[in-house]
Amino acid sequence: MSAYSIGVDLGGTNLRVAAVDEQGTIVARVSEPAVFDSGPERVVVDICKVIRSIRERNGMEELHGVGIGVPGFIDMESGVVIGSANLPGFEGFPVRDQIQKNLGTRIILENDANAAALGEMWMGAGRNVKDLILLTLGTGIGGGIVFNGKILHGFRGMAGEFGHMTVFPDGNPCGCGNYGCLEKHASATAIAAMGRMMHFGRDTTSAKVFDLAVQGNPRAKMVFEAMGRALGIALASLINIFNFPLYLISGGPLPAWDFFAPAMMIEVKKRAFTFERTGAKIEKALLGADAGLYGAAYLPFQQST
Ligand SMILES: [Zn+2]
Repeated sequence: MSAYSIGVDLGGTNLRVAAVDEQGTIVARVSEPAVFDSGPERVVVDICKVIRSIRERNGMEELHGVGIGVPGFIDMESGVVIGSANLPGFEGFPVRDQIQKNLGTRIILENDANAAALGEMWMGAGRNVKDLILLTLGTGIGGGIVFNGKILHGFRGMAGEFGHMTVFPDGNPCGCGNYGCLEKHASATAIAAMGRMMHFGRDTTSAKVFDLAVQGNPRAKMVFEAMGRALGIALASLINIFNFPLYLISGGPLPAWDFFAPAMMIEVKKRAFTFERTGAKIEKALLGADAGLYGAAYLPFQQST
């Protein structure tokens, strides 16, 4: 066995762990139900158990380190989760040090959306660039900024909160306190909400709106045009600010690309004068739910060079 690292994705309903070698090949992977209700101590025990079993099978000496993607804000210096709506009881808990002490292996924590952006650069759609932005459309909209091959954190780890960019000054109210945030107009949740306004039924999901659009329903197509427009307005600002070569979109609504991308591109071309002059690209991300795993596993390799 050659050198490898372990990536952990703590988001969602499953604890997903992968051992990845330096070439980016997944050599082992484990997925088991995540138990968050019993508090962070239990989660730490579960993570350590899985990592130990992978380490026993693949060799102790060759393990480079462990990267963990966490759905929350992290104080990078202390390795403490300083805010997370998805991990109750984790705030202020020294996740990194607890796991490090338990395993005797170097642990690096990272926000899961940031890890996904890094994963796309390493093994996904961004393999040929060092600078990219990833927007992930889900319940909300998250994402990450990779600059010169590294995640851009901001001074308190909160950079890349694309979901709360204002796209319509008097738009829908958002839980963050603002109006017209991108995620209120372009997330999977927003697509479903617009679908309900179109009388597609109270149980409407973004997938249902997509199915209706595929069947040729004009109101379903309108929903994706509105969503694409919001996305394009946000992207135009990002393109003008960053002058990056690549902007990636991932998440559940990605299959609806052909329905939302035309409206998105109209806004981008109208509002970002730098777009066509620079040849920047807006593309689909490639790794789906594995992006965060790859990114987490890449962190130990990156920090040792
Ligand atoms: Zn907001």
